[in-house]
Amino acid sequence: LETSNEELQSTYEEAQSTNEELYTSSEELQTSNEELQSTNEELRTVNQELSVKSSELETTNLQLKAINDRLLHEIEERKWAEARLEIERAKLATIFRSQPNWINICSLDGIIQEINPAGVLIMEGHSPEQLIGRSMRDFVLPEYRKEIDKCVSGINDVGEFHAIEVKISTFKGNVRWLEIRPVLIHLDNDELRIMSIIVDHTERVLTQNQLAERQQELAHIMRLNTLGEMASGIAHELNQPLSAIANYIRGCELRMKGDGCSEQEISEVMQLVSTQVKRAGEILRYAKDFTRKDQDIEWHEHDINAIVHETLYLLDTTEQFKQIQLSKSLYANPIMVNVNKIQIEQVLVNMVLNALDAIREAHPPGSGMLQIRTERLDQHQVKVSVIDDGIGLPEDYASKIFRPFFTSKKGGMGMGLPISSSIIEAHGGKLEAHNNISQGAIFSFTLPTKGTQRP
Ligand code: ADP
Repeated sequence: LETSNEELQSTYEEAQSTNEELYTSSEELQTSNEELQSTNEELRTVNQELSVKSSELETTNLQLKAINDRLLHEIEERKWAEARLEIERAKLATIFRSQPNWINICSLDGIIQEINPAGVLIMEGHSPEQLIGRSMRDFVLPEYRKEIDKCVSGINDVGEFHAIEVKISTFKGNVRWLEIRPVLIHLDNDELRIMSIIVDHTERVLTQNQLAERQQELAHIMRLNTLGEMASGIAHELNQPLSAIANYIRGCELRMKGDGCSEQEISEVMQLVSTQVKRAGEILRYAKDFTRKDQDIEWHEHDINAIVHETLYLLDTTEQFKQIQLSKSLYANPIMVNVNKIQIEQVLVNMVLNALDAIREAHPPGSGMLQIRTERLDQHQVKVSVIDDGIGLPEDYASKIFRPFFTSKKGGMGMGLPISSSIIEAHGGKLEAHNNISQGAIFSFTLPTKGTQRP
C-alpha cells in the first residue's frame, strides 16, 4: 500500500508536472495564437492596402492605356497630315512648274531665289540660274525701276501689296508687258519671302494696239470720206477769197493803167488781198489737219470750247450750215480736256452733218435750228451736245444707229456713229442719242476733264 501510495504520489507528481507543462504550453499556445491573430490582422491590413493599390494600379493602367491609345492616334494623325502635306507640297511644286504664269520667290529685298519654267520661258532664257540672284529691277525698262522699288519697299514698310504693270526686256531683247502681283509668304522656318505671280499681257496689249491702229485707220478713212462730202462746200469757200483776190488785183491793174494809183491805195488793196489769202489759207489748213493721218496719235490738252469753235469754222464751208439758225451755248470758262483734237472734231463734224441731214428732211431749204452746247457735268466730266429740230430718231432705229453699217439714208455708209462712239470710248467718255422733247434729236458725248483718269 505504501509502495502503491508512493507510486501514486509519484504519478501524481508526474501528473502535476505534466499539468504544469501543459499549462505552460497552453500559455505559450495562447501567446502564439495572439501573435498569429495579430499577424493575421496585419496581413489583412496589408491585403486591404494591396487591394487598394491594385485597384489604383488598374486605374493608372487604364489611364496609361488611354494615353497610349491617344498617342497612337495622334501619331497616326500626324503621319496622315505629313502624307497630306507631302501631297500638297507635290501639288504646289507641280503648279509651280506647270503654271503658264511666271512665279517668282524673292527675298524681302527683291532678289529672285526661285523661278518657275514659265518665268524662264517668258524671259526667253534657257535656265533658272540666269535669273536667280538677280532682281526684277535688272530686267524692267529703266522707266519702270521706280515702280519695282516702290513695290518692294511697300511690302517691307507697310505690308502693302498692289499689282504693278511693267515692261521688261527679255534676254533676246524683246519687250514684253507684264503685270506683277506680289504677296508675302511664310516659309516652314517662319521666314518671310515675296512671292510674285507675273502675268504676261504682251499678246493682249499687242492685240489692243493693233485694234487701236485699225480704229485710227478707219477714223482717218472716215475723215477723208467726210471731207469728200464737204469738198464742194470747201471749193466754193475757197473760190470766194480767190475771186475776191482776182477782183482786187484786176481793179488795181486798171487803176494803174489809167490814172495810176497812190501807194496808199495799193497798200489798202494789198491789205484786202492779205485778209482773203489768210481766210483761204485757214480753210486749207483746217481741211489739211482734218485729213492728216499722223494726227491720230497726238493727245494734248485743249479747251473743249476752242475745239467746238474750230469745228464750226470748218463746217462753215457747208452751204446748208450757213443757212440754218445756229445757237451756241458754251460753258462760260474754258474746260480743259486731254484729247486727240482731230478725232473729237471728227465726232462733232459727223454729229453736225447728221443733224443737217435730219433738218433737211424736216424743213424746207434754208430753215431749221441747231444748237451746240458745252457744259460741265461735275468736276470730272464735260458734256457736249448737238441738238437739232430735224426728223428725230424713229423708235425702231434708236437701238440700231450705233451698229456698223446701219443707215437710213440713201448713199449713207452707217459708219459715222460707230466710229464716233469708239473714239469717245477710247477717250473715256460715252456717246448717247435720244429724241428732243419738242422735235428732233439730241446727240451728246461726255469726256473726262483734264487730270481725271480715263476709266
Ligand atoms: P450715216 O450718216 O452714213 O447714215 P451714221 O452712223 O452717222 O451713218 O448714222 C446712222 C444713222 O443714225 C443715220 O442713218 C440716221 O438714221 C441716224 N441719225 C444720226 N444722226 C441723226 C439725227 N441727228 N437725227 C435723226 N437721225 C439721226
